Amino acid sequence: MEEQQIQLNEHNKEEFPPMHTCEHIVNQTMIRLFGCGRSVSAHIERKKSKLDYRLEQRPTEDDVKRLEEAVNEVIQSHLPVTTEFISQQEAEGRFDLNRLPDDASSTVRVVKVGDYDECLCIGKHVANTSEIGVFKIISHDWNEEDKRWRIRFKLT
Ligand SMILES: [Zn+2]
Repeated sequence: MEEQQIQLNEHNKEEFPPMHTCEHIVNQTMIRLFGCGRSVSAHIERKKSKLDYRLEQRPTEDDVKRLEEAVNEVIQSHLPVTTEFISQQEAEGRFDLNRLPDDASSTVRVVKVGDYDECLCIGKHVANTSEIGVFKIISHDWNEEDKRWRIRFKLT
């Protein structure tokens, strides 16, 4: 529980909106390409960011290329990023509410990237994916013990 709260609190700081919005797109693209969950850990910074995913097996170089291309395709589609407030009741079943702190308000904020992705988030986002730039994976590594894949990326 404590770790989950820390994750949410991290969103309180002034994140670099293009990087953070890109994180939403990468998460949804990972779900679609690999059938995994959203990132298990995230370090989002202006110059470069890290995202960790729990996967069955190590992605290939072709997978990396496909991920990069798919994310850039979404970015280049110039999708609007919009927010919507709904009650926690409405959010049940539609989102993972385990990540919400116990004292979360009864209204939660949904952030949508076009109709590509939607998730609960209180971070800062760009208004349109055209503001993100080009997504580039700098490096990636695989931890066999934890079945964890880490990507490091930047925006150019
Ligand atoms: Zn967000």
